Amino acid sequence: MRVLVTGGAGFLGSHLCDRLLQDGHEVLCVDNFFTGSKSNVQHLVGAPAFELLRHDVTLPLIVEVDQIYNLACPASPVHYQHDPVHTMKTSVLGAMNMLGLAKRLGARVFQASTSEVYGDPEVHPQPESYWGKVNPIGIRSCYDEGKRCAETLFFDYHRRHDVSIKVARIFNTYGPRMNPEDGRVVSNFIVQALRGDDITIYGEGLQTRSFCYVDDLVDGFVRLMNSDVSVTGPVNLGNPGEFTVRQLAERVIALTGSSSRLVFKPLPQDDPRQRQPDIRLAEELLGWEPLIELDDGLRKTITYFDGLLSGKSTAGAV
Ligand code: NAD
Ligand code: UDP
Ligand code: UDP
Repeated sequence: MRVLVTGGAGFLGSHLCDRLLQDGHEVLCVDNFFTGSKSNVQHLVGAPAFELLRHDVTLPLIVEVDQIYNLACPASPVHYQHDPVHTMKTSVLGAMNMLGLAKRLGARVFQASTSEVYGDPEVHPQPESYWGKVNPIGIRSCYDEGKRCAETLFFDYHRRHDVSIKVARIFNTYGPRMNPEDGRVVSNFIVQALRGDDITIYGEGLQTRSFCYVDDLVDGFVRLMNSDVSVTGPVNLGNPGEFTVRQLAERVIALTGSSSRLVFKPLPQDDPRQRQPDIRLAEELLGWEPLIELDDGLRKTITYFDGLLSGKSTAGAV
């Protein structure tokens, strides 16, 4: 098949491009390189089945493909808050354009939604049936509400125009090719530990997250995309192993052997206190569950950042 991946030069998108090429598909990678980078897909450039196009998904896109994975959107708080209006446009207009494209082509379209649609959840762990507790006017809202609106568009195009949709709600995912500048907790802690800098814990570090390794997640993407047409989602994809931010810092220090100290900084506004996926639906519908334990995934990610910081390895080497 010919498969379009928007946001394909980003962290998750570049791993998905690798996987789709391995599976024998042709890949059209579309990205505006806001948070992604050419270096993430440099190793694919020149391959006959791979094509890279600079394009912003807020604008219409006329191409011919069989499947569309819509991943384009800045994902870290630092980056999605940098230009909140453009973040909202990316989620909403990007979804609309990809749905319009899917409608014209009769192509199946996958949406990278997020656990942020649950906001600061009052139900724990979070099942897909939970509608969430989201602040509509806070600093995270451009992302949370943008992604919620995108889900609405997906389901309206499905009901109104019979577009075949697959909506994944992704929980915190980490691994090689995370952008070391995007401020996410796993990349921040690993880079700080490797440099011997202070490890910055926001608040008391008692908030929890559940961390999924990228290879597990990408396998969930492919299973969901190729599931029976009756499966639309939303389906949670994430690793249910739940850790406090402080526990994560301790794991990173232990695995790097770093002498970094923990320092405490103010907790950002609306930072969710807890997050853990209920993945029973993914298990039942897709036969999917994550296999990689946190320590194993952290070791692989540490190896990647170690190589990157010392200039010895590149994104293509993972
Ligand atoms: P990322 O920032 O590495 O990737 C996003 C990619 O989209 C980048 O390459 C960026 O340049 C591109 N992009 C941004 N705006 C664009 C636009 N207007 N037009 C074209 N390209 C654009 O982040 P990621 O972690 O790989 O996230 C990929 C997707 O998965 C995002 O939609 C994100 O919301 C979703 N997601 C990720 C996580 C996670 O933990 N990594 C969790 C939940 C949801
Ligand atoms: N669109 C696109 N590529 C296509 C078909 C549509 O980018 O191949 C865009 C189109 O420009 C529009 C959006 O998708 O902004 C929604 O398209 P749809 O046909 O649903 O809506 P309409 O054009 O009727 O408003
Ligand atoms: N966090 C932290 N120190 C950092 C970066 C993040 O303590 O250097 C915390 C952040 O406040 C949040 C959690 O780690 O509670 C996860 O943050 P991230 O930005 O990775 O993702 P999200 O908040 O979107 O889940």
